[in-house]
Amino acid sequence: MRKTGFFWDEKCFWHSGGNYAGNLPVGGLVQPLAAGGLPENPETKRRLKNLMDVTGLTQDLITQTAENADHEMLTRVHPASYLEAFRQASDTGGGELGLRTPFGPGGYEIATLSAGLSVAALEAVLRGKLDNAYALSRPPGHHCLPDFPNGFCLLANLSIAIRNAQAKGLAKRFVVLDWDVHHGNGTEAVFIDDPDVLTISIHQERNYPLDTGDAQVRGEGAGQGTNMNIPLPPGAGHATYMEAMERLVYPAIRAHEPEVIVIANGYDAALIDPLSCMLATADTFRQMTRLVMAWADDLCDGRLMMAHEGGYSEVYVPFCGHAVLEEMSASKRHAPDPLAETFAARQPNAAAEAFFSSQLADLATFLNVT
Ligand code: ZN
Repeated sequence: MRKTGFFWDEKCFWHSGGNYAGNLPVGGLVQPLAAGGLPENPETKRRLKNLMDVTGLTQDLITQTAENADHEMLTRVHPASYLEAFRQASDTGGGELGLRTPFGPGGYEIATLSAGLSVAALEAVLRGKLDNAYALSRPPGHHCLPDFPNGFCLLANLSIAIRNAQAKGLAKRFVVLDWDVHHGNGTEAVFIDDPDVLTISIHQERNYPLDTGDAQVRGEGAGQGTNMNIPLPPGAGHATYMEAMERLVYPAIRAHEPEVIVIANGYDAALIDPLSCMLATADTFRQMTRLVMAWADDLCDGRLMMAHEGGYSEVYVPFCGHAVLEEMSASKRHAPDPLAETFAARQPNAAAEAFFSSQLADLATFLNVT
């Protein structure tokens, strides 16, 4: 067993706001849903925690909450003017400051708690108090730009955690691997010119945001070469994800010599997810976790931290997340994927796999990865 931290707080499940039907604001021809709200609703995350309680996995983890991220931590990433506007709107009933990021009264405090969970998780790993750690941060963070919230993300949780660790001198060289199905545009923007933080995003091409995530974006200034985008065509599944990890992600991480590997962990590449067209399974997330743990063992004494990002199937996210946390902790408490057989049968056929593999080969050539 490893000493695995699990950072969560019920208050983060109380984040809410906006009158949406799926991704669409209600109005005009968009009828309200009976059970309305954004796809980023608390149930996916709460049901993961509940499943862990039922199997007993929670008992094998070091479960804790955290302090809210404070103003000094937040202003290392976000301008004070944005934080002030967010706080004011939160204090006066909630609102929306960006794109698809509504919040209710007190949303500011919930968002700073969500960021605080990631801050504490990363700090505990870097201080050697834990072998690895998982932050069930909600609202998520990887889309949030310093001054523009978008894609359900109100604060840049992982970026805040990394800037905090840098400022405290806990580590210098970081890798952020983002396997959420959407492009990690916020994390990319924060570290685009920072040569010490390698940002890698594997995502469905042209999903969200529509206009970011191209492979051509490799970094800027001193950070040239420390951003890698791996856009995958819709329909890619387990084999393509594993090939992308081995063929593209690992050589880049190894060359960067990180002191810790940080994962922006979304489960929305799963076959059943309503916001994407990919075919990953719970076993994909399990196997990717095994890989990053082995890489962390080789490169940085096992130091690994994950923050929960997207994933919108209330039924399936719990099984994906359980698989990840089983691997991180080496717990024997198992929650078998009830859809494993069905989803294995729905993987791409041989011709499609050959196409996806050829796309990855072209990308490796373009990115000069050997
Ligand atoms: Zn996502």
